[in-house]
Amino acid sequence: KDKILDVKDLYVSFDTYAGEVQAIRGVSFDLKRGESLAIVGESGSGKSVTVQTIMKLIPMPPGRVKSGEIIFEGEDIAKKSEHDMQNIRGGKIGMIFQDPMSSLNPTMSVGAQIAEGIIKHQRLSKKEAKIKALEMLKLVGIPNAEKRIKQYPHEFSGGMRQRVMIGIALSCNPDLLIADEPTTALDVTIQAQILDLMKDLKSKLGTAIILITHDLGVVADIAERVVVMYGGEIMEEADVKTIFYAPKHPYTWGLLQSMPRLDLGKDEEETLRSIEGTPPDLFNPPKGCPFAPRCEYAMKVCLEKKPHFFEIEEGHKAACWLLHEDAPNIESPIESRR
Ligand code: SF4
Ligand code: MG
Repeated sequence: KDKILDVKDLYVSFDTYAGEVQAIRGVSFDLKRGESLAIVGESGSGKSVTVQTIMKLIPMPPGRVKSGEIIFEGEDIAKKSEHDMQNIRGGKIGMIFQDPMSSLNPTMSVGAQIAEGIIKHQRLSKKEAKIKALEMLKLVGIPNAEKRIKQYPHEFSGGMRQRVMIGIALSCNPDLLIADEPTTALDVTIQAQILDLMKDLKSKLGTAIILITHDLGVVADIAERVVVMYGGEIMEEADVKTIFYAPKHPYTWGLLQSMPRLDLGKDEEETLRSIEGTPPDLFNPPKGCPFAPRCEYAMKVCLEKKPHFFEIEEGHKAACWLLHEDAPNIESPIESRR
């Protein structure tokens, strides 16, 4: 499979009155055609800034790409004009966000909104676009699509609005769908339905997906690979099974221990532990491991030197000094509880 996206050693800062916020520091990952990747982390970990930088949605200034490269379908995003980007966004890259209401136009019927994108990016006639819009509403599971197509966003529930957004995002057959916390505002049942829909559409359409979420629980079904971010840096990257069953980074351990387990029987006790402490100050990012102040395994070296990525096996790497050959042997709390 060829690479659709290649992010190389990306540094993004925001210049504010109070100083430089070093939001993204040294982020690298790639995505193959048709692959699904989840980027997981707490708020402020830099996951949204990362994808907004990819789409050139960061206002510059105050934002600034200090260094690094973003290659999308073989071309450098930095060299793209705003005009090019407008064609890429909604064309080759579809996007959905947490709150569909803020991205939908309240004064236009949902059918007209889907058709608008189709006309702009695919140069179809109005009539053809309308037919395609109806197909999209059916594809994303909106019941009574013939009637609903004429309705306005406020006539839809939150879950149905998110389906419409997915329909808009997919209507131009994008090569990549970026979903930033797409289910966070929805209740649990609807959340599951939307994730199911995305999974289903991914296998049907073969679209590559980047799912951004603070909730590791939602990635299990949909992502093939997971990148765990913390304080503007990548902590661990692996395929989804490895992240859940054999993670190596203490921050990933912490995320898993704070997540309710679905595989426990009724009588089994479960202690959920949240990760104590607060994320690093990005005005003044730590010299060593950003997780060190909250890490129960932190050693002297962790405060002084940034851990590099240790490759555990192909496709699995983690930035943690515990993986150094001279480090003490710590048993993973995740492997031992299963
Ligand atoms: Fe903890 Fe050190 Fe590993 Fe950072 S490098 S996660 S502080 S053990
Ligand atoms: Mg965010």
